[in-house]
Amino acid sequence: MKTLFLRDNEISLKEQPVPVPCAGDALVKVNIAGICNTDLELIKGYMGFHGVPGHEFVGVVESSADEFWIGKRVCGEINYACDNCDYCRRGLERHCPNRTVMGILNQSGAFAEYLSVPLANLRLVPGNVPDKAAVFTEPLAAAFEILEQVHIQPEDSVAVVGDGKLGLLVCQVLKLSGCNLTLIGKHESKLALAASWGIAVLPRGKAEASSYNLVVEASGSPSGFDSAMELLRPRGTLILKSTYAGNLELNMAPIVIDEIQIIGSRCGRFQPALRALSNGLVNVTDLIDCVYPFDQALAAFEHASQPGTLKVLIDFNA
Ligand SMILES: [Zn+2]
Ligand SMILES: [Zn+2]
Repeated sequence: MKTLFLRDNEISLKEQPVPVPCAGDALVKVNIAGICNTDLELIKGYMGFHGVPGHEFVGVVESSADEFWIGKRVCGEINYACDNCDYCRRGLERHCPNRTVMGILNQSGAFAEYLSVPLANLRLVPGNVPDKAAVFTEPLAAAFEILEQVHIQPEDSVAVVGDGKLGLLVCQVLKLSGCNLTLIGKHESKLALAASWGIAVLPRGKAEASSYNLVVEASGSPSGFDSAMELLRPRGTLILKSTYAGNLELNMAPIVIDEIQIIGSRCGRFQPALRALSNGLVNVTDLIDCVYPFDQALAAFEHASQPGTLKVLIDFNA
């Protein structure tokens, strides 16, 4: 099968044998996979990953011990848990210390014609959600994770820093809470897109300091942290959504003086995201910048790494 392979900070196309799934897994034929910022960071050395990256996909189950799944259109939760530890028993599979993570940690990913996914991780895609929307389930679930972590009240003043793919998804999810929401970003066209969805927007540097009680940092770059800190009121909450290779230099004093709470936020559950897509509560197709056939996957990555690019998809059937 055709795969995209990452080794030593370089990606290449590589023929590999089709995986043979174990009893608890299904073999899924990938229709479309999405390039995430995390994939670009993996190439820079984040997580020290080598192998087939890719964790955003939609596909069709080709074979499985459980016949129910065969022929079903699915996406897959990316954390493969052991199902046998204290975290798993408490419903915290996403934090299982024994987990592998699709295309990120010791587990082959979705930039391949086929991948093996545990049956417990498969999620059925509703019939009214096309592939080009279903491929957004994973990043959309990551946006919904914020609602699992903090109670956003209707009177809250909330800012999202970063108008990239994730920031635009986070905005649409937080808007559902009815809070007083502003997107702060650097790109005129993306701010215009958010404004077309009825979201208040401000260019970076124009937002008033110390005026938000909740700020979500989704810029994907270390500089977003300082901007986010500046916007927070004392006793405010900062939610960190960006992951990147490398370290951040941090002045801890304002966090102590203003008693800021910092919450790290990663993967979310897929079901709320699939429901939101099926009910038309979020617009993801506006976020598609370009769709490449798999044979041009290297060009797709090149495109995705250009600053300001929104979602680049790789279509295995094109
Ligand atoms: Zn992702
Ligand atoms: Zn576990």
